[in-house]
Amino acid sequence: MRACLSLATVAAAALGFLHPALATPPGSLAEVSQFAAPVPRDVALVDVNVIDGTGSPARAHQTLVIKDGRIAAIGPTEGLRIPTGVEQRRLPGRSVLPGLVMLHEHMMYFSGFRVWHSQAVSFPRLYLAAGVTTLRTAGTDVPMTDLNLKLAIDEHRIAGPRMFVTGPFFNGYDDHFLGDDIVRTEAEGRREVRYWAARGATSFKIYSALSHDAARGVIAEAHAHHLLVTGHLGRIGCREAVELGIDNIEHSFQACLAELAAGAADGQAPAPPDPAKAAALVRLLVRGGVVLTTTPASLDRPLSAEERALLHPTALGNYDAWFARPREESGAAQDYVRTLERQFIAAGGRLVIGSDAQDHGQIAGYADHHALEALVDAGHPPLSVLRMATLDGARFLGIDGEVGSLAVGKRADLVVIAGDPSRTMADIEAVELVFKDGQAFDPKALRASVRGLVGWQ
Ligand SMILES: [Zn+2]
Repeated sequence: MRACLSLATVAAAALGFLHPALATPPGSLAEVSQFAAPVPRDVALVDVNVIDGTGSPARAHQTLVIKDGRIAAIGPTEGLRIPTGVEQRRLPGRSVLPGLVMLHEHMMYFSGFRVWHSQAVSFPRLYLAAGVTTLRTAGTDVPMTDLNLKLAIDEHRIAGPRMFVTGPFFNGYDDHFLGDDIVRTEAEGRREVRYWAARGATSFKIYSALSHDAARGVIAEAHAHHLLVTGHLGRIGCREAVELGIDNIEHSFQACLAELAAGAADGQAPAPPDPAKAAALVRLLVRGGVVLTTTPASLDRPLSAEERALLHPTALGNYDAWFARPREESGAAQDYVRTLERQFIAAGGRLVIGSDAQDHGQIAGYADHHALEALVDAGHPPLSVLRMATLDGARFLGIDGEVGSLAVGKRADLVVIAGDPSRTMADIEAVELVFKDGQAFDPKALRASVRGLVGWQ
């Protein structure tokens, strides 16, 4: 085992991927193996309900064979020949679906005073425990920590999902957080993209106070590197962002509501949306091939006892104080965002999903499940939501040839669930086993190891 690790480390160093800070690597193979479930590498999951991630209906009484880290066979249990040497696990009443591919994730949590702490210990384990086997971060205060964390996960030194790292938040000076990368001009936009791309960031995020010129620099330079740009928009509107060539917009239509207003707001309530303006924006987004990331957080839902036990006492105190305070009514705006999302999909638009777990008791993994449930509650068919959270996410990242659906030859990234989330989405919470590249992980062990740590580490 040690020989494998040092070979991987040497190979990474030779390719120039290993940051000098990792000369003494954090974690170890032993750290990862403590979360391994007692399931052999080559195994047949027998008599399961297969939800393949393509949006096709679930198929009952199937057997799925995992061999050498990949899916070797899928078919009706009756009649499927299981290769010799492959152990059988009968799992009646369980569904198997592709590992979730979630696109607005964070490895940090709000600590107060416009600063976020890295959650490099707790969040990778909690994402994995929830069946999130691939994720894209959506900005960070601690880009080097995220980049080195990705490396450690790739080298099997830390248990966590496959990571695609977005660099720091590119923001204007007028209204920035303390961890933002302040970018004032087009030239600075180009310079920052070059810097973070060289360090391993594969996606970039423009934030709400970034200027038009700076955004133009970021987008042009990222596209020159064949990398994508997303945005939490504000100063730049949705229409303007499409015209600048943005690839992806976070929080879907949330940032577009102001420009869809039929008239001036009275200062109290938001102005009602204009359906003609909304239809025109939907057409523009679809024509521009812009992918929207929806992040439907369930902020009104109190935390479960299990979630509360994961939070560090300080983070729990902050959450309780925040939850108890009087809050603004955002229900009507949220409902309208969900309506626009359905119109966008009906017009051929591509919607992907993220949890945006980084504050307000939104915990990695748990918040991902709640986002899927919220979309079903908002009227999306469960099979469509599951496809968005698997195959569509993988397609967005350009890795759908390898992961994102259950198909022979693909990597064995999959989740075993007690129940059937294609009928009852809440079943998605009952994760029994998670496979990543054929390695089985135990969700209970992953979660138990980080009790009391969320918000701190
Ligand atoms: Zn976010």
